[in-house]
Amino acid sequence: MTSLASLGFDEFFAAQLRRLDPAWVPARIASEGRNTFRLLGCRAEIGELTGRLRRSLAPEERPVCGDWVAVADGEERAVIHHVLDRRTALVRRAPGREDARPQVLAANVDVFFVVTSANQDLNERRLERYLAAVWNSGASPVIVLNKVDLVKDPAPLLGAIERVALGVPVLQASAKSGVGLEALRGYLAPGRTVAFVGSSGVGKSSLANRLLGREVQQVGELRADERGRHTTTARQLMELPHGGLLIDTPGLRELGLIDDAGGLDVSFPDVAAFAEQCRFRDCRHAGEPGCAVVEAVERGELAPERLASYRKLVEELEAAERRRDPAEAAKARQRWKVIHKGLRARAKIDPKLKR
Ligand code: GDP
Ligand code: ZN
Repeated sequence: MTSLASLGFDEFFAAQLRRLDPAWVPARIASEGRNTFRLLGCRAEIGELTGRLRRSLAPEERPVCGDWVAVADGEERAVIHHVLDRRTALVRRAPGREDARPQVLAANVDVFFVVTSANQDLNERRLERYLAAVWNSGASPVIVLNKVDLVKDPAPLLGAIERVALGVPVLQASAKSGVGLEALRGYLAPGRTVAFVGSSGVGKSSLANRLLGREVQQVGELRADERGRHTTTARQLMELPHGGLLIDTPGLRELGLIDDAGGLDVSFPDVAAFAEQCRFRDCRHAGEPGCAVVEAVERGELAPERLASYRKLVEELEAAERRRDPAEAAKARQRWKVIHKGLRARAKIDPKLKR
């Protein structure tokens, strides 16, 4: 059996586990069903929530792919007693819904490959949105310009990406020719969890298959358990052949932002730098007197689209917050803040994640 460390279990989770019933062991959620979860790291392959957890967990607290849980292990089935705090969580508003309930897409991902395609027009605004969401998750983004085999010269595209992706590593790749895959693999390591995000059709599955070293990707079919119930899921956590873990998340086309814990400022260091000079500390850069950001735009030092895009994301966050319980929103903000700090501290010591 794979070691817990190679599945990503470390002191952050071990410390939490020590505070719980010593009879419980850790397991990682490989995929979610309605009532059952596929587990890695413990003896049983399938886990079920205790009745208490089923009743008490808020939707966003239910285990998702990548989560660590404490289980009472068994021969065939384990009972999930506790969901350990997440180090990172990619959260979005449930798509197409007005109530802005947070939906956790993946937990404990360390690096998100944000994939764009060289044969499509670059959508800078969408890229910014993905970057902000990834920073807010607590993970680190790496931008992958895929399908470079389809263009003569990717340099102009890379240049355009670098203008919005300040400080974020940018790789060029081709899932078809294999170009750039070594650079991508450089971000993998035993115990490290990666995932791909990006619009549909950019080549996320193709890149994932390359990392997995296989042609056909098994997408979310849990084996029927012995009671004959089928559980299907669209996401799963897989071990990579040369170490590391991959969470496969299908196209996140409607990535709404729900909480900001500084992810915006990390994604917009240009705006943030000018904002420090604004007269008011809580300046929204929307016509307040003494606004250094608007002045920078007027002087031509900051592209107006950057400010517009920043404002749009701020408004989206504020709207999401207004629709929610203020106490909850504050709590969530605090949580992401803690996560974010931890990750940034880690990014400093890990040269691969250095920005
Ligand atoms: P996803 O929706 O992001 O998972 O994208 P897929 O991996 O399904 O790829 C979408 C299409 O793009 C498929 O037809 C792939 O064969 C093709 N594709 C993926 N990567 C590359 C690449 O690097 N070069 C070329 N030419 N085609 C690619
Ligand atoms: Zn301002």
